[in-house]
Amino acid sequence: SGNLYDALRAGFPADMDRPALALADGRAWRWRDLDAASGKIANLLLSLDLPPEPDGSPPRLMVQTEKSPEALLLFLAALRAGFVHVPLNPAYRDAEMQHFIEDARPAVLVCSPAAFPALSTLGFQRGVRHVYTLGSAGEGTLIDRASFQPEACATQPCTPGQAAALIYTSGTTGRSKGAQLCHAALLANARIVGRAWGWTGADVLVHALPIFHIHGLFVAAMGALLHGSTMRWLDRFEPQAVRAQLPGASLFMGVPTMYSRLLREPELDHATCASLRLCVSGSAPLSAETFAAWEARTGHRILERYGMSEAGMIASNPLHGERRPATVGPALPGVDLRVVDAGDRPLPAGETGAVQVAGPSLFDGYWRQPAKTAEAFVTDADGRRWFRTGDLGRLDAHGVLTLDGRGSDLIISGGFNVYPAEIEQALDSLPGVAESAVIGVPHPDFGEGVLAVLVASTKPPPEDAGLLAALRQKLAAFKCPKAIVWTEALPRNAMGKVQKKQLREQHAGAFT
Ligand code: ATP
Ligand code: MG
Repeated sequence: SGNLYDALRAGFPADMDRPALALADGRAWRWRDLDAASGKIANLLLSLDLPPEPDGSPPRLMVQTEKSPEALLLFLAALRAGFVHVPLNPAYRDAEMQHFIEDARPAVLVCSPAAFPALSTLGFQRGVRHVYTLGSAGEGTLIDRASFQPEACATQPCTPGQAAALIYTSGTTGRSKGAQLCHAALLANARIVGRAWGWTGADVLVHALPIFHIHGLFVAAMGALLHGSTMRWLDRFEPQAVRAQLPGASLFMGVPTMYSRLLREPELDHATCASLRLCVSGSAPLSAETFAAWEARTGHRILERYGMSEAGMIASNPLHGERRPATVGPALPGVDLRVVDAGDRPLPAGETGAVQVAGPSLFDGYWRQPAKTAEAFVTDADGRRWFRTGDLGRLDAHGVLTLDGRGSDLIISGGFNVYPAEIEQALDSLPGVAESAVIGVPHPDFGEGVLAVLVASTKPPPEDAGLLAALRQKLAAFKCPKAIVWTEALPRNAMGKVQKKQLREQHAGAFT
């Protein structure tokens, strides 16, 4: 039918009484329940009989709720009803929501009961036709109304290129952009990842990621749905609760901060992770130290992969074969990757440049931003369209990619390019340094000066002079930080990404 839901549904196990979502309190949603309940919600959406948008696109369903099984059902229902799913971080406040509502112009909004007074007014003023509530325990008008609907629901046919989701990027480098993703791109991505990681119906995934973002929704949850694997479902990441769910599970996916927080659990050991066959990390750089500590404590070498809202999963360390810390592996099968210079010409192995990607999982453009969309793509001499990821990296002779940070975080100090990732890796390896963020801030002599913001792992922290001397043994002088700032914790967003823009603003006066 072209509808992603039908492809997922075809992967549900023959025994529909098996658990699809197993909750920590013993409750479960069987595959049969997922199908029936998402059918009811889809029928509710279809009963609204919404006209197509003025541009002919399907209606958009904006969802800002806490993570819950019902919130996942709502995603499935949106697919089945042919709506465009627009999930948002529940941390956004009213003023931010006003921007997203004005930008996405949803026909239907589902929010938490607490947000209803503010958001229903805003929605009413901005042309939203229906506002429902969904609380963290499934309470609210959405499920109430859906209860009256029949379970059987014929999935709406659609063209594979029809928009399925509008995913707002994490807003790490600037204001979040809406990436429009079609049914076919999402399916292609889930199939590529499924094959690369050997995903089967026998897998049991511990799911503790948020579902408003590509990692938790399109990699973790969709992979499990497509392959009929059970998810042990946690509504939030809490180290002890995750540790308790690991025994008996086969897969775990997390962002690097989840791994470092789990490592602070004294009970985490080989036995906890004995049944796991794969631990995957992504969304932000995994330090070689965390990689090594996880291997020492659990016996597992974390598989690090690289992806983004606009392009799905791009590169991955191998399932079988050597997983190299601080690299993200070669391009996934079916995905093409290149590293280019400022003129979009491919660079030889070993040279750092801009990472570009082509393949079946690419997005269709930034929502209502034609200029940004045009800038984001480049067509090569053979007519191939490449997406500019905005990330810097280099390929080795075997096509293994190492990321060197984001283009927007590149520091130009005294006319030299300084790649923050390299300095951060060197800093993280020094005793007394727990984590680091290297930024460039205005400097009267050098244009930008290199500044290291560090979190200590010892009390008191190591002496700055000693650290810098140790660093100069590893790095050329122009790369070494001109100053160090100690802090309790680095500012990170929900996906564990360091907010460097915020750090640059905070320390803008460091050298002036
Ligand atoms: P915005 O585009 O709004 O600035 P964002 O790029 O953080 O935000 P996402 O699409 O959620 O939004 O994240 C994709 C980015 O995450 C990639 O471009 C890359 O910089 C980073 N990333 C993902 N995986 C890894 C990884 N394994 N190592 C380092 N960085 C990673
Ligand atoms: Mg981005």
